[in-house]
Amino acid sequence: MTSVTPDVPKHQKAKALKPGSRRPAKELCSECGLCDTYYIHYVKEACAFLNQQIAELEAMAHGRSRDLDNEDEWYFGVSQDMMAARRIEPIPGAQWTGIVSTIACEMLERGLVEGVVCVQNSPDDRFQPMPVIARTPEEVLAARVNKPTLSPNLSILEQVERSGMKRLLAIGVGCQIQALRAVQAELGLEKLYVLGTPCVDNVTREGLQKFLETTSQSPDTVVHYEFMQDFRVHFKHEDGSIEKVPFFGLNTKKLKDVFAPSCLSCFDYVNSLADLVVGYMGAPFGWQWIVVRNDTGREMLDLVRPLLETQGVSSSGDRRQAVQQSIPAYEKGVTLPMWAAKLMGVVIERIGPKGLEYARFSIDSHFTRNYLYVRRTHPEKLDDHVPEFAKRIVGQYQLPDS
Ligand code: FAD
Ligand code: SF4
Repeated sequence: MTSVTPDVPKHQKAKALKPGSRRPAKELCSECGLCDTYYIHYVKEACAFLNQQIAELEAMAHGRSRDLDNEDEWYFGVSQDMMAARRIEPIPGAQWTGIVSTIACEMLERGLVEGVVCVQNSPDDRFQPMPVIARTPEEVLAARVNKPTLSPNLSILEQVERSGMKRLLAIGVGCQIQALRAVQAELGLEKLYVLGTPCVDNVTREGLQKFLETTSQSPDTVVHYEFMQDFRVHFKHEDGSIEKVPFFGLNTKKLKDVFAPSCLSCFDYVNSLADLVVGYMGAPFGWQWIVVRNDTGREMLDLVRPLLETQGVSSSGDRRQAVQQSIPAYEKGVTLPMWAAKLMGVVIERIGPKGLEYARFSIDSHFTRNYLYVRRTHPEKLDDHVPEFAKRIVGQYQLPDS
């Protein structure tokens, strides 16, 4: 009698890397978690920092890649719809009004998915990420609020395949979602929903400590923070108080090496490959910003519409001069005295870019900075790693020669 061994997919024979070992993308690794699983088998194609393939993955996920003749798509990617929204009853403790957590809870409650990839914090450190597959709304709610640190969300992918789960929602930032899209056909799923947030300037846990200590007056009591549309960083403290520090007063010299090299090399701020993106930067202060990229994203948003107040997006001001001036200032590590930074913050808040123009301001400032970073540190990668839409955005500005 001959024994028949079931076909084991090739990737299941691969071995995850040990924690702390050097990753294939080396210093550019964003610790997305893929290499903590046997899906490391696909790392050369899947890693966002080894193989930039946003256009190809957009075509796979949304049916087309972004239209390079449409300037809005350079910035915001493929979209069917865009709006500002907020929960009528915000979820206490969420980063904004909790739209992300609400969608995930609804999807579980209605049985659309069996599990949700999201990130809770470790029991002893509110900023230490702990990725989980949430199977109940309570577990989703325990993951609310940003962990402003690199988070290995994909480290739980082996558990997804082993559990036999067929319908999954993944919540994540751009680099995690790029790698996820690249391996999604291997996960054994019938349906994958992807809910993304924009992401920029992330840090390691040690980097976060340095950022808090350099910038906040009470680093140990910070519960969350955000770089806001009023050109200030808002730190929320344990007692509910809000500390505001103007962007222009940040100690750029000290903070220059605080951001992770992956984030200084990233051109997927707006999470191009998610079905639905929920951020804040294209919306008025206090509102969230929603980009529906495809029919799956629309299905997800429709589930929570009755719980939301919405309005159209708007745009005013002109970002270009402010971005152009920020380029040499950042390169030279210029820090304004606090009084001047506060004054500049007030002026720019009154007359500066708002709505989608604020989002463009933020994208332009980060893409020019990141382009110069990649040019300086990895010139050999520049051409392939920077997507065409980002080259066009950066091409609007005068950059220093070297
Ligand atoms: P909540 O309901 O509070 O849920 C937050 C969700 O985020 C949770 O499900 C959790 O699993 C997930 N999450 C938390 N931390 C991480 C992490 N490190 N990696 C992956 N997933 C995580 N939006 C902008 O418009 N502009 C920005 O510049 C911007 N920067 C961001 C930087 C970081 C590091 C992160 C994580 C998000 C950023 N966002 C940005 C998104 C924004 O801050 C909110 O997360 C988003 O609007 C959702 O708010 P919410 O109240 O609906 O989320
Ligand atoms: Fe691996 Fe992700 Fe790091 Fe790339 S970014 S090397 S896929 S862990």
